[in-house]
Amino acid sequence: MEKVDHIGIAVRDLDERITYYTETLGLKLMKVEEVESQQVRVAFIDAGNVKIELLEPMSDKSAIHGFIEKRGEGIHHVAFGVTGIRERMAELREKGVRLLSEEPGPGAGGAEVAFMHPKSSFGVLYELCDKSGKGDK
Ligand code: ZN
Repeated sequence: MEKVDHIGIAVRDLDERITYYTETLGLKLMKVEEVESQQVRVAFIDAGNVKIELLEPMSDKSAIHGFIEKRGEGIHHVAFGVTGIRERMAELREKGVRLLSEEPGPGAGGAEVAFMHPKSSFGVLYELCDKSGKGDK
């Protein structure tokens, strides 16, 4: 794990929450995009050394929808920046860490992402986020 890239936060209303982060907290909005495969609308907020990723479900098929129904809005995951995500996943598996998928999937900003099972990480949902390919910084 190289660094914390971003903190993912589940929100009900992306536009309202963007206003909170930009106007109330005075942080800068970097971009908004849709990740169709995950059924989420995503906003990245620049918080200096780390980004805040706001995640709004686009439908009830989104994992974020289920999360908000069960636990309400709030911190959903912490993402580590990595390079060579497939190798990192293999290393983690070797060390007995469970992953939520066999292969990395598409994330926001063209990144490849994978998640570690929270039971393997003592209650924290960690994402591995690899932007070394086509992804932007
Ligand atoms: Zn994320």
